[in-house]
Amino acid sequence: MTTGGHFEQEDLALYAMHGSTPAEAALVRAHLAECPACQAEFEKISSDLAMVAMSVEQHPLPEGARQRFIDRLADLPAPAAPVEVVPIRSEPPKRSAAIFIPWSIAAVMALVAVLLGLANNSVQHELAKDNYLIAQFAADSQHAQKVLDVLTAPEAQHVVLTAGKAAPVPTARAVYLASRGGLILEASNMGPLPADKTYELWVIPSNGAPSIPAGTFRPDASGNASLVLPDLPVGVQAKAFGVTIERAEGSPTPTLPIIMAGVAPTS
Ligand SMILES: [Zn+2]
Repeated sequence: MTTGGHFEQEDLALYAMHGSTPAEAALVRAHLAECPACQAEFEKISSDLAMVAMSVEQHPLPEGARQRFIDRLADLPAPAAPVEVVPIRSEPPKRSAAIFIPWSIAAVMALVAVLLGLANNSVQHELAKDNYLIAQFAADSQHAQKVLDVLTAPEAQHVVLTAGKAAPVPTARAVYLASRGGLILEASNMGPLPADKTYELWVIPSNGAPSIPAGTFRPDASGNASLVLPDLPVGVQAKAFGVTIERAEGSPTPTLPIIMAGVAPTS
């Protein structure tokens, strides 16, 4: 009957239409008195019921709704039960039965309509939420892909802008995100290397730990190179970055001299 300690919409709808057993009704009433969430739900259902009374649209039944309602009806006290109470003014017993039947049919129809409305609403809400997240994710990953494409495309033009007419010098720009171990390096005007050599980038930790190798790179004919997301440990605060020239397969420790270096700004 309850989900996470709360009443389900079906139970609240039944209660709203006085379709619960007296015991159930007492439970629901007690819970509503101290649960704002169920109270809000109950008020929504009540207003939905009012709407249903004014206009009932035809929808296919949600799966299991009919059986659940039939089961629920089976739990209701038999309509003949009130016969035990001796009426003060005796009326034909047929009449109470005749009143009960249309009420229960109306209740079935109204409840089904309410359930359909609720199921429909919540499914559409979920779908809208999912669609939004998927669109968001697609947009994010499309953007990330574009960034990578531009950075790494062999035909991309890498231009370093300098003041005046300074001769082009080797320049590299590293973007580093310690919390994710993410690093992107963009290098320009790098001198050519013999076939058995490579440039290697180093992360120099601020805690004095040994330099961490952050990948090797060789410039293209124009002297450009990039290094995108090399394998790095997460959470290493960097004091500086350096580039050395190493043997072609790279080295676990830097070989001096450091030919390029940059100090990370302290935040
Ligand atoms: Zn509740």
